[in-house]
Amino acid sequence: MTSLRDLLTTFADCFGPPGGEAPVARLLEQHLQSFCQVRRDGLGSILAEKVGTQGKPRLLLAAHLDEIGFMVQGITAQGYLRLQALGGWEPSLLPGQRLLIQTAQGLREGVVAALPVHFRSENTKPLKMEELLVDVGAASPQEIKELGIGLGDLAVPHVGLGVLNEQYLVHKAWDDRVGVAALVAVLQHFRDHPHPNTLVAAGTVQEEVGSRGAVTAVELAKPDLAIVLEGPPADDLPGLSPDPPQGALGRGVQIRLYDPTIIVPQSLWRWVVALAQEHRIPHQLAVRRSGATDARVIHVAQGGLPTIVLGAPVRYAHSPASLIHLADVAALVALTVAIIEALDAAKLQELAFS
Ligand SMILES: [Zn+2]
Repeated sequence: MTSLRDLLTTFADCFGPPGGEAPVARLLEQHLQSFCQVRRDGLGSILAEKVGTQGKPRLLLAAHLDEIGFMVQGITAQGYLRLQALGGWEPSLLPGQRLLIQTAQGLREGVVAALPVHFRSENTKPLKMEELLVDVGAASPQEIKELGIGLGDLAVPHVGLGVLNEQYLVHKAWDDRVGVAALVAVLQHFRDHPHPNTLVAAGTVQEEVGSRGAVTAVELAKPDLAIVLEGPPADDLPGLSPDPPQGALGRGVQIRLYDPTIIVPQSLWRWVVALAQEHRIPHQLAVRRSGATDARVIHVAQGGLPTIVLGAPVRYAHSPASLIHLADVAALVALTVAIIEALDAAKLQELAFS
């Protein structure tokens, strides 16, 4: 069994912006194919099915494969690239950031142009995505072409893993590779342990541009209940709010009860909280005033599906250097395992109608 830390690192290293998730999909398939039946849907999402001691209920475990990234949108006369954001970037975080660009001829490097402080005037305005330029070491559009770079090429930040104080991992793409790694860890657990249901593990594509992969994956999965595994933004930053955080690093798995796109059924989350207490799994409850996950489209599929969102908080989410805490990921895995072990047909009936 691969260690959680190794799983996290391997998946975060992977290149996978929306529309370019194939490397992550392949990696997920490699981890699950020896003991699950794996198929892909028409958009590229992976569905890995494992039948337990009873065929029903069918539980969908969904984590999105994509990370926020970029598409080459234009090439300037001076030989710079312009970017289309794929997902929610804050443009001011990007100047000085190195990028990896996937071209028809392999990977190329670039750096987002940054205006040195020496040239800044007092009235320099906040940056817009359309104004960012990427320097690839070319002096003309012709040189860009010779490098094999063209419109439609995809890019992500060029960064590697860092370990802070042993338990904190810093990398790009924790949203949602933390969910994908947890998904693999959960399935690997049930390779050797019985479960009273059928598991359908889904690695969904294009969440960051509007949960398009989840729409098609849930159609094929035909689940009775869904658990979405996420890397939600941590809110334990200094000065963010005078109130206690609901997603702090090191305080356990986050159980999301609400965001503007879903109200998790009370019977479901109260049962999950009771399970966490019973198994002594550190957990924190969140009522989010913003944000959305694949649960947005999953819970309204097939006439309505009980759906819950669990996560390991990500500090500095949607930036090229985000942080997670290993204990939170372990708690995310432990709670998901506890839910699966307890969710048989009778329990589902109780939850869905009580
Ligand atoms: Zn996400």
